[in-house]
Amino acid sequence: MPKSQKVNGAQRKPLVVIAGLGDVGVLVATRLSRSCEVVAISTRPALVSGQELGNRLTDPSSWRRTYLVPYLRFRRLDRVRQLQGRIISADLDGDSVEIELSNGTRIIEQYDIFIIATGASNGFWRHDRIEDIETTEAGLASVSEELKAAKTIAVVGGGTTGVSVADNLARRGGAEVHLFHSGEQPLPGYHPKARSWITRVLSTDGVVLHPGHRAITPDGFTGDRLTHEPIEWATEQEPFKADVTLWAVGGMRPHSNFLPAEVLDDSGFVNVDEYLRLPGHENVFAVGDVAASDPHRSSARNWGFRVVVANVRAALKGRTKLKRYKAPEFRWGSILGLQPEGLTVVQPDGRRFRIPRWIAEPLLMRVFVTRYLYGGLRRGSRG
Ligand SMILES: Cc1cc2nc3c(=O)[nH]c(=O)nc-3n(C[C@H](O)[C@H](O)[C@H](O)COP(=O)(O)OP(=O)(O)OC[C@H]3O[C@@H](n4cnc5c(N)ncnc54)[C@H](O)[C@@H]3O)c2cc1C
Repeated sequence: MPKSQKVNGAQRKPLVVIAGLGDVGVLVATRLSRSCEVVAISTRPALVSGQELGNRLTDPSSWRRTYLVPYLRFRRLDRVRQLQGRIISADLDGDSVEIELSNGTRIIEQYDIFIIATGASNGFWRHDRIEDIETTEAGLASVSEELKAAKTIAVVGGGTTGVSVADNLARRGGAEVHLFHSGEQPLPGYHPKARSWITRVLSTDGVVLHPGHRAITPDGFTGDRLTHEPIEWATEQEPFKADVTLWAVGGMRPHSNFLPAEVLDDSGFVNVDEYLRLPGHENVFAVGDVAASDPHRSSARNWGFRVVVANVRAALKGRTKLKRYKAPEFRWGSILGLQPEGLTVVQPDGRRFRIPRWIAEPLLMRVFVTRYLYGGLRRGSRG
């Protein structure tokens, strides 16, 4: 692992290449940019967060304030060399990546350390296409408008996304909202107490629950658009027709096709050890939704960025003692996002706490997310 090196008599900072500037890539880049020369490659010119997806549809303007942020507004990204494009191949033995830039040209970047944080596609929420900010905005607006016009909405999938979307749409009113999920209760992977709680909340908020429904998805369909045809069920119930069907069926597709198959698990996620390093490649790390770090692949919300940042720093100093990544058995987090009554956070042991809205907005959004996590944002234009 290289420490700072002398190049033509001058000390050279270690070169870190970060693939993907989503929720996790941004946090890693902002923390390594002083001590290292960081190059970050991302398909879009803005952070488009994967968090609080229910709010993203029902209250897009307040969601944007925290979760759709042009990189230019991040003070701590000023030192980072940002390239808009896609990594198309990685040579892990030769320490280089090949990038297709947004203008179509291809370039090679060498690295001392490579950090993979390219996330995963999940219906229409997240993808790895090269896109400008206007296209991102237009996509958000058109989905939101279409849902606003519907009188019956079917949401398929009982994970965090489906639950959050269904509940937020039902709270907004104006449409009958049906949530279809395959198990007995929504939120697989969460503590049983959390699952019982959310079942009560959804019913109270007016969501019509349909347990035991597994939808048949047309061949090749990944849930990346709203549909209007009746939904057919592998579990043999009568087809269901809604004005609009929103798919949140989980089928996550990792953005990892630029990597050699031997570093991936059977589903295409990146194998990592307890230090979030790729086995056999000491200078390569993976973190966030693309990393097979634990059964729930939850290193994004379980502070995996801290583990990677600490381990990159340790490795560059030649230290062998590294920080271990640990994940709780059950998932945790905010499921419904910020509501008039505040922000409810479910803990791994199924207990919950609620931060009242009047504290959550200034403290969580402005102080914790904007100042602590993002390291300060410039006011101003979206571009
Ligand atoms: C601190 C924190 C708290 C969280 N709390 C919650 C919570 O309470 N509730 C909850 O539901 N979730 C929570 N999350 C998790 C979140 O919903 C997702 O897990 C998170 O968005 C995944 O981030 P990611 O960086 O792995 O992927 P993404 O945010 O999807 O970022 C991946 C980026 O890589 C780009 N990319 C893809 N392929 C390439 C390529 N070939 N070349 C270059 N770029 C590429 C993509 O375009 C994208 O910009 C939290 C996350 C964090 C960090």
